[in-house]
Amino acid sequence: MYSFTSGFFPNRSLESLSNLSSGPGAKPLGRFFLPGPTEVYPEVMEAQLRPMISHRGSAMTEILQELQAGLETIFFTKRPVFISTSSATGLMEAAVRNGVRSKLLACVNGAFSKRFGEIATACGHQVDTYDVPWGAAHDPAELRKRLSKGGYDAVTMVHSETSTGVLNDIKALAAVVREFDDVLVLADSVSGFGGAEIKPDDWGLDFLLTGSQKAFALPPGLAFGVASERMMARSAKAPAKGFYFDLVKFAEGHEKFSPHITPGLSTIYALQVQLKRMLAEGMQARWARHTQMAERTWTWVDEMKGKKAGLSVLAPKGYRSPCVTTVAVAQADVAPTIVKAVSAKGWTIGGGYGKLKPSSFRVGHMGDHTLAELNDVLAVLAEVIE
Ligand SMILES: *Cc1c(COP(=O)(O)O)cnc(C)c1O
Repeated sequence: MYSFTSGFFPNRSLESLSNLSSGPGAKPLGRFFLPGPTEVYPEVMEAQLRPMISHRGSAMTEILQELQAGLETIFFTKRPVFISTSSATGLMEAAVRNGVRSKLLACVNGAFSKRFGEIATACGHQVDTYDVPWGAAHDPAELRKRLSKGGYDAVTMVHSETSTGVLNDIKALAAVVREFDDVLVLADSVSGFGGAEIKPDDWGLDFLLTGSQKAFALPPGLAFGVASERMMARSAKAPAKGFYFDLVKFAEGHEKFSPHITPGLSTIYALQVQLKRMLAEGMQARWARHTQMAERTWTWVDEMKGKKAGLSVLAPKGYRSPCVTTVAVAQADVAPTIVKAVSAKGWTIGGGYGKLKPSSFRVGHMGDHTLAELNDVLAVLAEVIE
């Protein structure tokens, strides 16, 4: 047991930290439904208090080796799973810097998919967008049409668009991209991974990236990436990929289980614990739990039909994320009031994102939440909505 006796943490022991969630001003577990960051289990939080070790020593090598085996299981891959000490946006930038030669087609249906294209523009690439309305999914046939106009060397797509709650069929979209020669699939599953099925090897994703703080239910600060051989070959020839996000450096570090930079050790300790929890639950069971929570949320929206606020699920049936639901509110400007009223009762949900702020709220039913906890927040919502 460690105890901190500095002026910043007088008499703060591990045991008292495990009670943080019931400490003054804090909410009990099970009430935080933001679509990222999500709630983190106390035992996972506590793991972060372990002492520092050398990131070049044998202890680190052992940790990374053991993590790799578990990560391959949950990512359904035989490829290395790169761990980046950055937020997920860092690996979106890595996707672009390593995987785009000059011309990108960005599939845009919300705030995060839009960001993917903007990153490529900021990196000096030519970017065309395949835009559909926020709240819609991309159509594989239309994607084929756009790709046949030619000249693209990569396509970006978002699996679970956290701003709209839309789940893209990236398996079908990736299959279309694969019909074309030498065009890479760069996929963001930041709020999908951990709650929605995703299989990078089977689905032909050249780069899959996710972050720690969504359905992974870890603190923010880590991102994970799986790169295909094609992606690595492209990266090896990329002329201006920089240093920090060079995937060849990630791969070299992975070979030796010795990263090219000092990784965020504390969050990696948390990952060790959370990975064990995820493996114990099993990914199929985890996906099923998320689907159950999502379906309950959609049914609840139907049950709210008589309310003046006028609720509807923004995403169309068949294209709804199991991890986050964006609920559209018809009554003008009422959505932010609902979010505040829920907060006043001691629960947290997400406000609408970007241009959807006045007209929607979001329930992040992802990570380690249970159906019982979800039912509680939905009951609170039902009380505050007129
Ligand atoms: C949260 C999120 C991101 C950005 O992640 P950061 O960790 O904030 O950089 C990107 N894409 C999607 C779909 C997200 O939900």
